[in-house]
Amino acid sequence: MGKIKVLPQELINQIAAGEVIERPASVVKELLENSLDAGAKSVDVEMNGSGLELIRVSDDGAGMSEEELELAIQRHATSKIKSIDDLFAIRSLGFRGEALPSILAVSKVAISSRTQSSPHGYSFTIEAGEVLKRSKKGMPMGTIVEVADLFFNTPARKKFLKTSATEQRHAMDVISRYAIACPQVRFSLQINSRYLLSFASASDLKDRVASVLGGMRAKDLIPLNQEKPGITVYGLIAPPSETRSNRGGIYTFVNSRSVRDALLGAAVIEGYSGMLMKGRYPIAVVFIDIDPHEVDVNVHPSKAEVRFRHAGAVFGIIASTIGEALAPSSVQKDYSFGIAPTHKDTPRHDIKEGHCEEPKASWQSRGVQGQDGNLFDERPSLQPVPGFYSSKAVIGIFHNTYVLFQDDLSLYILDQHAAHERVTFERLKTVYASGIVKKQLLLNPIILELSRPEFSVFEEIAGYIAKIGIEAEPFGSTTIAVRAVPHLLAGSDISRIIHDLLHEVMDGMLHEKRERVKHLEELMASIACHASVRAGKALSPAEAAALLRELDEVGSPLTCPHGRPLYKKIGRDEIERWIGRRP
Ligand code: ADP
Ligand code: MG
Repeated sequence: MGKIKVLPQELINQIAAGEVIERPASVVKELLENSLDAGAKSVDVEMNGSGLELIRVSDDGAGMSEEELELAIQRHATSKIKSIDDLFAIRSLGFRGEALPSILAVSKVAISSRTQSSPHGYSFTIEAGEVLKRSKKGMPMGTIVEVADLFFNTPARKKFLKTSATEQRHAMDVISRYAIACPQVRFSLQINSRYLLSFASASDLKDRVASVLGGMRAKDLIPLNQEKPGITVYGLIAPPSETRSNRGGIYTFVNSRSVRDALLGAAVIEGYSGMLMKGRYPIAVVFIDIDPHEVDVNVHPSKAEVRFRHAGAVFGIIASTIGEALAPSSVQKDYSFGIAPTHKDTPRHDIKEGHCEEPKASWQSRGVQGQDGNLFDERPSLQPVPGFYSSKAVIGIFHNTYVLFQDDLSLYILDQHAAHERVTFERLKTVYASGIVKKQLLLNPIILELSRPEFSVFEEIAGYIAKIGIEAEPFGSTTIAVRAVPHLLAGSDISRIIHDLLHEVMDGMLHEKRERVKHLEELMASIACHASVRAGKALSPAEAAALLRELDEVGSPLTCPHGRPLYKKIGRDEIERWIGRRP
């Protein structure tokens, strides 16, 4: 190790900036928060490319005087708190006084602002934190911050950024969240001079939520409203029939601040417990208004997470409010303040329950082993045996989920959903490889209304999905028309398949994968998964036998497309040992 040295100020600033400004969307978030804190009624965001080139945020808020501007650009300068006590009574979005200086440290910024009492505004040009120019400027009241060449002096940071499309989606997500938090404020987002989001000032939350989520789901939204001493829970939630394949549809807010907190997400999911199919997640907009002393917002540099003093109580109230709204007459779960499940108990909800999402590693590391030691067979042998499935006899179906079949020596328990998924996956792959897609033209095209972000993802993947036979095209500004589907998917819920796909891509599960082939395989795995018989759908014994034959036709695979075993084998001798027929 070398000698200890105090770092130069410029480097200190760059390091500090790294915590707050992680990607272009972080700039959008911080500037948006400042505009809202300044009481803006209208905020316009413009972005070029991935946002590295240019992000401009203009507002009509209170603005800053020349002196204020001079202070605002210094680290730890804020108008929002004065003492440590204020930190625990925060109502503003910002308070750390770090955002502007952090942005300034890693980009080239022009910041202009005018207050109501001043006849003109002031404009500062700043590069890597250094003010190069100060001038007067004619402008309306408010503030315009223009951030160019983001990360120009921290090239390492640039390497971690994803594609432009991904960065743009992050920005859209940030704006969508604040648009829900502040329905009365007008927001717009232009990317490369094209309007991607435009939310007119709305008088009520429902209108705003409807335009953010995409019109289709508005009519079905269920209102939440629960006031308890010290905490109010309100919002709008979708019925359990409208779901997504991931948590992207859960929007949570604490004192009007958008937070993505594991506890809050888990509480929302708990509220739907028993009503969602495995692997499906709710769509919900949930606001919690709580005494600021009950919540610490200063646990994360970008304030994305919070910590509650009575986490269990918050969890319980959210879950019961939702549960009650969904089933007004049923007996509610009793979570009383203070003694409800604690934060510690909740992470089980973070374990992905969805069949499709479970990563390969989790079953492999767990081993496929019963609690009582080696009771069960180990993993299926790794070599597929041709004709393995169809040489055995179906003897029944357990709980509409597992096909039971046997040979002389063993009983096999097959996961019907996973098996069907694998068959569909293999067939889609063959179809793609052969280039010959059997499509079924739809007499009446399926019209899907999408939200803006969904639509932008659609535009990106339309070419890919066409290759496997899903033909869809834009039809109106955020609507698409599906004109043909592959034979394999005929009869499936196409609307749901497309929505799920869009959200999976959106969440980067598929998108970041570099190679095209890999990307396509995953799209296909995903489509196969969504198209397949869900556990719970009754198969006749003939259909179960057909499924075994189909498995052999596609090469007798042993795992689902996500790598989980399709079946479990229990030897006759083992059964005899359990029963006590053998020592
Ligand atoms: P914080 O928001 O945590 O106070 P920032 O670095 O984001 O810290 O901003 C510093 C200060 O600059 C704010 O406290 C506020 O007084 C002022 N400011 C920043 N942006 C705006 C804006 N758009 N309109 C008015 N004042 C602003
Ligand atoms: Mg701020």
